[in-house]
Amino acid sequence: MSSAADARLFPAVQAPVGTARLMAARAADYATHQSTFGPLPAHADSAALLAALRDSGLEGRGGAGFPAWRKLAAVPARERARRRRVVVIGNAAEGEPLSQKDATLLLLSPHLVIDGLLTVAGALGAHSVYLYAQASVLESATRAFAERADASAIELREAADTFISGEASAVVNALAGKAPIPHDRTVRLTESGLGGRPTLLHNVETLAHIALIARFGAAWFRSVGTKGDPGTRLVTVGSDGHPSRVLEVAGGSRIGDVLRFTGVDIGSLSAVLVGGYHGAWLPAYALEARLDRADLAGFGANPGAGILMGLGERRCPITVAAAVASYLAGETAGQCGPCVNGLPAMAAVLGRLATGDRDTGLPGEVRRLAAIVTGRGSCNHPDGTARFVLSTLTVFADDVTAHLNGRCRKDHR
Ligand code: SF4
Repeated sequence: MSSAADARLFPAVQAPVGTARLMAARAADYATHQSTFGPLPAHADSAALLAALRDSGLEGRGGAGFPAWRKLAAVPARERARRRRVVVIGNAAEGEPLSQKDATLLLLSPHLVIDGLLTVAGALGAHSVYLYAQASVLESATRAFAERADASAIELREAADTFISGEASAVVNALAGKAPIPHDRTVRLTESGLGGRPTLLHNVETLAHIALIARFGAAWFRSVGTKGDPGTRLVTVGSDGHPSRVLEVAGGSRIGDVLRFTGVDIGSLSAVLVGGYHGAWLPAYALEARLDRADLAGFGANPGAGILMGLGERRCPITVAAAVASYLAGETAGQCGPCVNGLPAMAAVLGRLATGDRDTGLPGEVRRLAAIVTGRGSCNHPDGTARFVLSTLTVFADDVTAHLNGRCRKDHR
């Protein structure tokens, strides 16, 4: 970030120190929020905001990890220049059952999400602004909205309680009054989304970071975390026997450290699921890996939406994976071939393996079906499901063999 852009965007206010950034003013009213973070700076133009986001290295926190500045840059320049054209959406539809971070953020720091929405909307001169979230989450956000006049520009819309409700095109469909399911996208939403308008959709944690970057700058954002994963991120952490908690951690934290901090005995784990049901397993021997792309790439994982779920060594991973695959096969929009036919078939074959069928062709059949569904849907639900299933076969190869030999003695509940 250039110092000139810094000077334009960032008034002199006390920046949070350490990793308590998004959670620096937990459950604060608006007055406390302002005294903690300072007032929201005057709106930057889109070029200045884009430069700040690019220099910060902020990646989207919704799962895909797309650089925040690239999303803004994807709104055609002519549309950014023409005021009152663009639609801005804050997405808190947390369909992933293992994730709690967005709901927690809106419960504890709703004003940062509002600030982020207003920052992006102000830079683009937005036509309309929405916050999309499940009903229970909106309920807590409503109190924060009532505290400030500037939030009246933001419409609150209730999200469906389904796994795929947060997919970008499903969100746009829902806001347009249609079924909240993904649709085929031949044109990017940033060019033509809600009502044919350029539509910029950010996860709410991404927006909260944008609100802080607008105040304190890109260099401050990068002062915590690693080069590959700057800043902080919210993670939902749990394991067998440990209820999930949401933490704010430095980017690139070691996964074992994060788990230990929450009291998880990492010696009792066989693996950790990174990224939720569309994620991948990290075996126990690799728990000192960092929560960043570079360290996780070898396992087919990425930080995603910040989910770390430990699996106890006594639990049967094949049984767990079969239950997840079955759940995911039931959470499709039922409109594309891979979901209508492929996912239920793949889940059924994995279920046979889990429940004692010793046909040695089962793992190969799972792999065959995973290859068939990958890249064939209108959204990434088949790809994410296949990734999870394939990771299970790879990381738990010994358990697969134990099942085929009839020697699995683990807990099958
Ligand atoms: S791939 Fe599956 S979940 Fe995605 S739009 Fe098609 S049917 Fe729906």
